[in-house]
Formats: sequence, structure tokens, C-alpha cells
Amino acid sequence: MRRLDQLLSALGYCSRKEAMAFVKDGRVKLGGVVVKRSDQRVDAAQITVDDLPLEAPDGLLAILHKPVGYSCTHSVDEGPNIYELLPAHWPDRNPVVTSVGRLDKDTSGLLLVSDIGSLVHRYTSPKSDIEKTYLVEVDKALDPALKEVFAKGDLMLRSEDKPCLPARLEIVSDLTARLTITEGRYHQVRRMFASQGWHVEKLHRERFGPYELGDLPEGEWRMLEPMRG
Ligand code: URA
Repeated sequence: MRRLDQLLSALGYCSRKEAMAFVKDGRVKLGGVVVKRSDQRVDAAQITVDDLPLEAPDGLLAILHKPVGYSCTHSVDEGPNIYELLPAHWPDRNPVVTSVGRLDKDTSGLLLVSDIGSLVHRYTSPKSDIEKTYLVEVDKALDPALKEVFAKGDLMLRSEDKPCLPARLEIVSDLTARLTITEGRYHQVRRMFASQGWHVEKLHRERFGPYELGDLPEGEWRMLEPMRG
């Protein structure tokens, strides 16, 4: 059981100060009955706001189809950011909603966002072996020999002290390939291709572990069921 004002502010509906007025407006119900006091202890599962169940009271995981041109930062100084594509109250949730790792501004595709710290950590830790698959478009015809170069696990990127872990390359066409990596180093895919003389023109993440974009349109998001543990 949690105090209603704490619960509402933690989920980003209003600040704790605003909770009294929020509740007095009759927007909050407990088991279908309008709640009168914002300091009462409640079972989150029984609460509705504007007749809708509380949004992800135990933590939120969502998938966003990130367009090119949006950065994965909370800062508004770097142009458009992904939080503009998500519900406006999510950054007010506590813990705050963040992206699970990042995609470059120029990269499109699948991005997870969550406020579940343990999940974000599990998916982004250097020890995590979650597979990420990228569709890559390059500037000149691909050489099938690249498959072996990326698969060997001894590719050194400039100013790094450890080689990249083995990665799987599937050549789709002359200028397009799918690359699956298990790490998440800075600009990793672009740098892997650059190290072999190819420039990445377009980069799109298709898959992150068990998650795929499916038919989710660019710029849109949907809720996922978090896998805990
Ligand atoms: N590798 C990159 O180079 N950029 C991304 O956004 C993701 C992986």
C-alpha cells in the first residue's frame, strides 16, 4: 500500500503539492468510488485516474520506432529529442524514464525506453550479451570477406584496448547488409565498417534481444510487458 499523493507524483500525473487539488477534482477513484483524501494509503491496482487504470504502476517498458534526426538525450539544447515523441508526463515519473542505451541521432529504428533501473542495467551492462541487429547501407559494394573479418572477434577499433566481440554479417545486396552485435560501444557499427574502408550511409536497428519493431510506424511507440529477473 502506498500513499496516494506519492503514487500519483511518482507516476508523473501531478506533483505531490498538486495531488490534493488533483484528488479534490474527483479524477481519482479507488475500486470505483471517488477518493477524497490525497494522503490515504491505497492499493495501486484498485486506482483509476479519469476512469483509466494507473499507467504502469510497477515500472514501464516501451518500444519506440526512432526516426533519424532525434537524439537520445533529455537536453533540449541538441535539437529534437526522443522524449518529444513520448507522453509528456513520462519524464516526470520517478524513477525517470530513459532510453535503454542510445542510438545516434542519425540512426533510426528500435529503441527501448524504461524506468525500471534493473532492466536498463541488465540490457546495457557491458556483460550483457543481448543481440542487436542493424540494417546497414554503405557507400560502395560490400565484400563477402567482411563476414569473416567481423566474425573472428579480433577487430580492433581506434583508441580501444579490447577487440570487438564476434559479430554476424549477412550480406543482403551490393550495398546493404545486416549486422548483429552483442556489444554497444560508441558508434560501434559505423566504426566497424569505417575500420575496413566502408562508410555507413544509413543505419537502422531492427531488433534488440527478443524485441522487434514489427509494423510499428516511425515516430510511434507502444507499451511492452517487462521481462523481470
Ligand atoms: N552503432 C552505431 O554506430 N550507431 C548506433 O546508433 C548504434 C550502433
